[in-house]
Amino acid sequence: MRVNKLADIQLDNRRVLIRADLNVPLDGTTITNDLRIRASIPTIEFALAHGAGVVVVSHLGRPKAGSDNTHLSLQPVADRLRLMLNRPVNLVKEWTNGLDLGSGEVKLLENIRFESGETKNDSDLARSLASLCDVYVNDAFGTAHRAHASTHGVVEYVTDSCAGLLLASEIEALERALANPKRPLVAVLGGSKISGKLEVLHNLKNVADTLLVGGGMANTFLLAAGTPIGNSLVESELIDDARAIRQASDLPLPVDVMTAETINDGSHAFLRLTDAVRSQESIVDIGPETARRYAKVIAEAGTVIWNGPMGIFEYPQFADGTRVVADAIADSNAFTLAGGGDTVAAIEQFDISDRIDYISTGGGAFLEFIEGKSLPGIEALKRSK
Ligand code: ADP
Ligand code: MG
Repeated sequence: MRVNKLADIQLDNRRVLIRADLNVPLDGTTITNDLRIRASIPTIEFALAHGAGVVVVSHLGRPKAGSDNTHLSLQPVADRLRLMLNRPVNLVKEWTNGLDLGSGEVKLLENIRFESGETKNDSDLARSLASLCDVYVNDAFGTAHRAHASTHGVVEYVTDSCAGLLLASEIEALERALANPKRPLVAVLGGSKISGKLEVLHNLKNVADTLLVGGGMANTFLLAAGTPIGNSLVESELIDDARAIRQASDLPLPVDVMTAETINDGSHAFLRLTDAVRSQESIVDIGPETARRYAKVIAEAGTVIWNGPMGIFEYPQFADGTRVVADAIADSNAFTLAGGGDTVAAIEQFDISDRIDYISTGGGAFLEFIEGKSLPGIEALKRSK
């Protein structure tokens, strides 16, 4: 069953509750990256342009019960929304007895995780939220993997519900890459560890035509193949998993790597064939020949999914492997999809955002989707009337 879209729903003169993901990084009360706020604007503007009154709801950080959580107020976000929407945006702290809302008005509820029922998916809180609106819109992809009152429970108590523009585009991009991909489908996977991405690897080994691995996770694959990896980060307990994944997929191992004896601004990177890593060295990046081979596979792909840097790209001397692979993805004619906090940071660092077809706004939610899991926030919309 499909999820309703915003354009399918009557919005004129109705109260629309939009669950956005406005969980932005803050330094005190200063927003250090407003990407998530910017990403929420099109849906809010769409509802306003179609005659709705809008209530926005989001969480911010992880408030602790019984602690002073005033630093997690959404006031700075309300201020930023007011600037971006160019209209008043009041932060509402008390709303459980209802609130006044006219067409064209925008109100932002205070951090929904200040309510203890939110993360428990409490039905009373879900009902209170539902009573504020005629239409519920979920646009919070970043929180779609959580069954909370504002992402899941609320849907049961509203007549009309749908995905917002951002959530709809996330679902469309992920389905395009995974459900019926243009082949070959190439998954580029890196980052520090296999452990956090074991489910991703297990799912993609069945779905993708080729897996290209880099980063710390490649070390465990190398060790599983009997290659010495010196002092590198490794998860020996996952060797059997690594073997099973490799057996069930096309997963070419790195043929060369960059190593270092210490990891800091001044440390030197050595180029080594993978069987020549010395005992005191750690692998910090894929080597140039590996990067060239990966780039060739990417150039011939129909679809590319990318999560995880190929090396410790935060240091320029260990960033080449990630850069070559990132450029290959940017240059590829394939449908390209990338996600993950550090992956998006790498994309910004290399200034290639415009040349990736879709960059997911969800970290955990993106990973769960590519694990093949269904996300509660999306499932709730499918079940709605
Ligand atoms: P994402 O946030 O995109 O999902 P991860 O959090 O899994 O990515 O991994 C990113 C981190 O992996 C980066 O901080 C990077 O420095 C680290 N990393 C990459 N290659 C290695 C390596 N060979 N050894 C140790 N850490 C690595
Ligand atoms: Mg990360």
